[in-house]
Amino acid sequence: MVDNCIFLSQKVRIMPNASQRKIIDDLIARARFIHNFAIQRFNDVIEKTGEILNSDNLRNYYLTHRNEYEFLKGTFSTLENQVFKDIQKKIKINIYTLKKKKLNFKSINNGGQSFYLSLKEFDIKEFPYKKHHYLQFDTLPSPIKIQNKMRFPTGIPLSVVIKKEYDKYYAGITFKLKREDYINSLTYKVEDTNKAIGIDLGAKQYITTSCGLNIECDRPLSKLLKREAFLNRSLNRKVHPLCKGDTTPKSKNYIKYSKKLGKLHKKIHNIRQDNLNKISTFLVKNFGAICMEDLELQDLVKKRSFAKLSQDLSFSELRHKIQYKGNFLGRTVIIADRFFPSSKRCIKCGHINNELKITDRIYRCEKCGFEIDRDFNAACNLFKYMKNITGWGTSKLTVDEINKLKADCEKYKIIHNFQPSVSNIKIPKTISEPSVQLDFTA
Ligand SMILES: [Zn+2]
Repeated sequence: MVDNCIFLSQKVRIMPNASQRKIIDDLIARARFIHNFAIQRFNDVIEKTGEILNSDNLRNYYLTHRNEYEFLKGTFSTLENQVFKDIQKKIKINIYTLKKKKLNFKSINNGGQSFYLSLKEFDIKEFPYKKHHYLQFDTLPSPIKIQNKMRFPTGIPLSVVIKKEYDKYYAGITFKLKREDYINSLTYKVEDTNKAIGIDLGAKQYITTSCGLNIECDRPLSKLLKREAFLNRSLNRKVHPLCKGDTTPKSKNYIKYSKKLGKLHKKIHNIRQDNLNKISTFLVKNFGAICMEDLELQDLVKKRSFAKLSQDLSFSELRHKIQYKGNFLGRTVIIADRFFPSSKRCIKCGHINNELKITDRIYRCEKCGFEIDRDFNAACNLFKYMKNITGWGTSKLTVDEINKLKADCEKYKIIHNFQPSVSNIKIPKTISEPSVQLDFTA
């Protein structure tokens, strides 16, 4: 029973009216205040005595001082609890740099625009004579309209995070629901398949798979990024208070341009998310087992030219999406060990070439003289790695299956081509054809 339940969240737009907006803003401000109050205490203690407090100490300190602040009266207890949970996470992440660097405060522009409520304190309501669902919590005089359709009507709502993003309000509602209900809510049919692939992620060719399918990253953002740079420049020229404590009012143009920039950021973010969602859904839908590498991009991101590109690619986000979507559908998703030499190993003889550079696009084996596209070699190695663990699945595709995949790519508007990227070198025929491939069973 436990195994059959999954936890999922849906982000919906909510449409509060003026008085509801006031209440939400007030709760957001309270959450931010409590957070910053506790962080102030934490930083003070660490500066004076060097002691690292935990969230329980901070909570006790907060509770003894709460009565001094009139506006904190009647705050939800789960809102407070969640703030201290977040702080505990923050301390854990920064544990090694705490003595040199203070913890950051939250501000309106930096993560301080949300609050959390648990099951007891909110409710999703449905009225027989109305089309939309409504969100209700205790301090609200009337329920707030939810604009989107609820994706999981049978799910039990567990918690909600209410968020404000550039003048718009959203609610992230977490549901507990049965796996069958999730599968029924999908727009496509889930079929059992014995197809398995290894995936190599790269900057040049976004995704190279061991079945010969290559996916390129759609980057329609270059135009938008230019506009972003332009807006950033013009915003810098507008008068605004540069330092804290400066009471110069923000100019109307500054406010106008910062809103424009906010909208643009949101748009870019949405396009990226859409892209990643399409690719991950496509892969999870069509393949029963997927193996990826545990790639850390941090070394590559140090290069400035690559930093912007990596935002477009966002490997970790894609990996995360494939992992959770795969788990929901009961697919096998394997992340290869971090030290597995997927690109350095020869697919034919297993020799490991430690002198392979990042700039080498073609893998040449020193031992057996085999030449192969670097990314394709890595993808095949990952497939082999998975085959050793699970012992099932095939990477070979028939013509019908290739056509089906192509049609699916077109449906999701994924830029793809169906050949290993081996245009400029001679490769044995057994590899350049996706339908006839190396025998991995050995
Ligand atoms: Zn070799």
